[in-house]
Amino acid sequence: MRRTHVVALALLPLALVASPATAGPSTASATVFSPNPVATLQDEGLTDQKDADYAALQDAYRTVTLTHLDGSGYLHGDYASVDTGTGPLATAPFTYHRDDDRFEQVMAYYWATQAQLYLHELGFTNVNNEPQRMKINQYGVDNSYYNGDQKDDVLRFGKGGVDDAEDAEVILHEYGHAIQDSQVPGFGTSEQAGAIGEGFGDYWAQAVSTRYAPTKDEPCIADWDSVSYTDGPVHCLRRTDGTKSYPTSLDGEVHDDGEIWSSALNGMRTALGPTKADTAIIRAQFSFAVDTTMPAAAQVTIATVKALYGSQAAPSAKAAFHARGLA
Ligand SMILES: [Zn+2]
Repeated sequence: MRRTHVVALALLPLALVASPATAGPSTASATVFSPNPVATLQDEGLTDQKDADYAALQDAYRTVTLTHLDGSGYLHGDYASVDTGTGPLATAPFTYHRDDDRFEQVMAYYWATQAQLYLHELGFTNVNNEPQRMKINQYGVDNSYYNGDQKDDVLRFGKGGVDDAEDAEVILHEYGHAIQDSQVPGFGTSEQAGAIGEGFGDYWAQAVSTRYAPTKDEPCIADWDSVSYTDGPVHCLRRTDGTKSYPTSLDGEVHDDGEIWSSALNGMRTALGPTKADTAIIRAQFSFAVDTTMPAAAQVTIATVKALYGSQAAPSAKAAFHARGLA
């Protein structure tokens, strides 16, 4: 779905264009975590405490500007649309804290929009460039998922433990699935393609989180969400700088095997820098087969680096995949 009423508006009488009912502000101030309290405060001792807005978390809140809103007063805009949550839908002022479920709605809108703005910054205007639908705290289990079915196309976030949408990196991981599904509809029909999906989601969480809210330990994904289910002392859902290698580390579980892929992408990031690496990674994904293998996708990515940045850049991309057994 793409917005077409911008064109239509030009044909309307001026009085109607100026009417508050059809043209509200396109930005609003909001309170979010950026990316999450553990990373922001560098405090691995923070815990969920049943959704309480306790004192140690207060310094983790940040004031940001929500952009590209449609003026309806709800979290609907060019790149994100929060359809439902538990209880009422969020409306301005978007200054909720975590003990109010509308806080997670604001987080989802903000971070999905930032993800799309980063894609634009990289030069992509054809990658999931639509109001991504999201449903927040829809069910009690500690899981989130993306359903790429064309009739659905919704990101859903759970609320077990720390509410999933309280952590930008969980939102961005799921958005990564929407990116790949936009580029290659139905992507991920083989186990290795599924693993690429998980690995890219983790890498994308790191990339966007670092772009807008850099913190010390970039490769640690979902530092806050994971306090509920990891032992520590450092809490990460997964890391993007692991030492797993293809094919010996494969165990057949897509999130586990995705760590091979995310580590190769992170190696490319180190070698080429974020902008070149992310541009090549996104560009290459257009050419992935829905059921690709990791080595095949690695070859496509290396070829894309060569096409974009020349034969001097290609060896460092190849080395990043070679380090993980993928080239
Ligand atoms: Zn996933």
